Amino acid sequence: MTGLVIVGHGTRSAAGVEQFAALVERVRHRGDIGDVEGGFIELSRPPLTDAVGALVAREHRALVALPLVLTGAGHGKGDIPAAMAREQQRHPGLSYRYGRPLGPHPLLHDALEQRIDAALAGADRGGTEPAGADRAGTWVALIGRGSTDPDANAEVAKVARLLWEGRGYAGVEPGFISLAQPSVPAVLERLRRLGARRIVVAPYFLFAGVLPDRIVAQSAEFAAAHPDLDVRVAEVIGDCDALADLVLERYAEALGGDIRMNCDTCAYRVLMPGYADKVGRPQRPHDHPDDPVGHHHHGHDHHGHAHHDPGSVAVVGGGPGPDDLITVRGKGLLDAADVVVVDRLAPQGLLAGLRPDVLVVDAAKVPRGPSMAQEAINAALVSHARAGRRVVRLKGGDPYVFGRGHEEVQACVAAGVPVTVVPGVSSALAAPALAGVPVTHRGVAHDVTVVSGHLPPGHPDSLVDWAALARARGTVVLLMAVDTIAKIASVLIEHGRAPETPVLAVQDAGQADQRSLPARLDEIGAVAAQEGVGPPAVFVLGPVVALTTTGPTV
Ligand code: SAH
Repeated sequence: MTGLVIVGHGTRSAAGVEQFAALVERVRHRGDIGDVEGGFIELSRPPLTDAVGALVAREHRALVALPLVLTGAGHGKGDIPAAMAREQQRHPGLSYRYGRPLGPHPLLHDALEQRIDAALAGADRGGTEPAGADRAGTWVALIGRGSTDPDANAEVAKVARLLWEGRGYAGVEPGFISLAQPSVPAVLERLRRLGARRIVVAPYFLFAGVLPDRIVAQSAEFAAAHPDLDVRVAEVIGDCDALADLVLERYAEALGGDIRMNCDTCAYRVLMPGYADKVGRPQRPHDHPDDPVGHHHHGHDHHGHAHHDPGSVAVVGGGPGPDDLITVRGKGLLDAADVVVVDRLAPQGLLAGLRPDVLVVDAAKVPRGPSMAQEAINAALVSHARAGRRVVRLKGGDPYVFGRGHEEVQACVAAGVPVTVVPGVSSALAAPALAGVPVTHRGVAHDVTVVSGHLPPGHPDSLVDWAALARARGTVVLLMAVDTIAKIASVLIEHGRAPETPVLAVQDAGQADQRSLPARLDEIGAVAAQEGVGPPAVFVLGPVVALTTTGPTV
């Protein structure tokens, strides 16, 4: 039968460790699961590696790993899987199914209700009033651990609501002991202003620990400052049958497959305001003091799990598309990167060669409007670098040719993050070359002008002197001009370019489906529309286009 390893975070509280051990014992004695061990990822004994080692020594090759956490935050989503990944490296062939966080669950809500009732039982109700009357006059402050993960905090708010439904309390308000608002004093003050006279502070915690102790201390302090209020603190959920039942339920669920976390609002997956650095962040295991690899760092960092080398950002031009048109320097930086933030037009083939532990962030998928997206990308570059990671910002072509590369460099400079730029082969020059057009040729053109066509001539925001381009005799390369080419061509002719000037549209340069369409300047708009030229494409025009190589090329 599949063994179960119950994984705790670890605590400095001896009482908390005892309660965890008692729960593991309780689950074991149920006899529903053949083999049960419990271990911690840091601080407390036994370490996870001993628990897994014991199961492996008893011939288990497939396990259920159940994170003993109430909500899915960093420990459940990242640290425990990272610690399990290390165990898999230690025990080749070991597989495991990962259980869901325990809450929200009716068994927990019932347990909380009992803890609240027990706190109320001590209330002065003259021995006559029924419990129901107490509840109507009782407000509950449900205090969660608090997290930098909004999804986890939202779960606590949900539990507060579920605890209130149908139980007859005056109200249940969520609060947090750490990292999130409202704090314990803030939620107590909120309840006081709502007219509360009696408040039960209910810690939404499994076991005793430093943070539940802090809830007691802060509640006592608030009560001392408000002698007119009756403030009581309920016990933590603790080792109990309900919790053992829930562990067994999560075990069965994990065995059945189809475990889902709440992915829609997961900060590691979806960009949320203020949490840009979390999207796709790699998880590194905690170091347990008793784990052989452990370089235990005191003052455990709950926020970043950072390693301590200074990070950096390289804004790298990836070239026009093919894998081998990146520079050697760019490729070297890419090979050493921890994080790669990639654009849609960057060479996608290069991603396949990255080490499996490299975090790839798809900048094209960053939600919200274009300017906000750029801010989110800048924020992600800065925060990954600050967390000690080597970040490559991989862009198509050259980062400074209509690539917004300098905005990213400026953001890094402003944040004091070391940043470097690696130029790339721009499509402005590469697409014509790949299509057989020499943008300059001795005796034919002494100038080549690279122009963005994203705004049509006459647009109030346009910075291009179209009339001057029309008067010039050399080569013009238009980028981002698929939608504006007809208008651009007619304005160029209007100001003096010959209608018969040769133009070549080059689409998907460097790709297997690269295609070129030749036309006269006065016909290019119609030809491009008729042939369905679509982005990415450049238009190159001028006398050099007449020299386009049409013979066999390799
Ligand atoms: N920094 C990039 C340009 C970004 S603007 C560079 O230096 O290449 C995006 C425009 O680049 C596209 O609209 C298109 O005009 C052009 N482009 C990029 N890749 C291309 C390709 N493979 N083939 C043709 N045009 C391309």
